Amino acid sequence: MTSFHSTVYSTVGRPFPRVSPIDEPFWSACRSHVLAIQRCDGCSAFIHPPLPRCSTCLSEDLHFEALSGRATVLTYTVNHHVWRPDWTEPYIVCLAEPDDAAGVRVIGEMFDCSPAEMRIGMPVRVAFIEANHGFPVPAFRPAKAGG
Ligand SMILES: [Zn+2]
Repeated sequence: MTSFHSTVYSTVGRPFPRVSPIDEPFWSACRSHVLAIQRCDGCSAFIHPPLPRCSTCLSEDLHFEALSGRATVLTYTVNHHVWRPDWTEPYIVCLAEPDDAAGVRVIGEMFDCSPAEMRIGMPVRVAFIEANHGFPVPAFRPAKAGG
């Protein structure tokens, strides 16, 4: 699996995901700062979140495919509720579609962007938040020329 350059944001106090055998390859790729999405060997459909079989053709022949990390904002929310004392507001939660996995939706926090700068349709790059115990989870940052 290849790795792409990514930005890692360090945070404390965030819960880390509960990992199952089905989604372990997704989280393992995150540890390498790679966004890898499950894909069906039978019909080539992308599947996210990971499932034990393809939701399109029911094949159990699946693999995880490393993506470029480029994505497009589909929607977002600007949040002002501070759920933990070590968080600051406002923070942006973004729903994005990877440019190389049409139909897939990935949700994550947006960094390096103010609420006023956010736009539906803006290009973003996958970044990672280091949750508790160094567990990286996907996040986003604005795409910059060449980045
Ligand atoms: Zn399939």
